[in-house]
Amino acid sequence: MTGRAKHPGQKKDRPRGVTSRSPGVHARGAKAAGALVCGDCGVVQHRGKWNWGAPPLVQLSKGRCPACQRVRERYPAGTLRLPAHFLAHRQEVLQLIRNVEATEKLEHPLERLMAVEDSDGCLVVTTTGVHLARRIAHKLAKRFHAKPRIRYADDEELVHVDWAPAPVTTRRRGAGGAR
Ligand SMILES: [Zn+2]
Repeated sequence: MTGRAKHPGQKKDRPRGVTSRSPGVHARGAKAAGALVCGDCGVVQHRGKWNWGAPPLVQLSKGRCPACQRVRERYPAGTLRLPAHFLAHRQEVLQLIRNVEATEKLEHPLERLMAVEDSDGCLVVTTTGVHLARRIAHKLAKRFHAKPRIRYADDEELVHVDWAPAPVTTRRRGAGGAR
């Protein structure tokens, strides 16, 4: 019994006790005048935006950014399950994931990798933001010509990405006619 709803996309999908929310929710709650500094990673929220670097010369308060909150609660916003055939290119896959994160994190400080782990023959990649998960999915899809399945839940604050287990080596043409 987990208390999770059967219907993805509903608020009840959130496990009990978890407070992680999308960045926008936190932005609305913050004071416009001051700045909030994350005690875990040092990212600064000012005027509703999160930025890396030195905080502005305004009143500072300490708190925790949504990304670090997700890490602490072990509640990823994005989960990608890469099937075994991706692991034939393991180093390349890992490099691609790190590169995408590095680029995203610069511009969007709350979009970060949480973990990259082996589980049941898959590589499971978790992220603090749905945007990063989608970016990784699309980059992998492009590089390996494998279309991902993307599912959203919790009012699109969560995304799950996976791929069909068998590699697609042949392209069916004309099967079933026009769609
Ligand atoms: Zn933080």
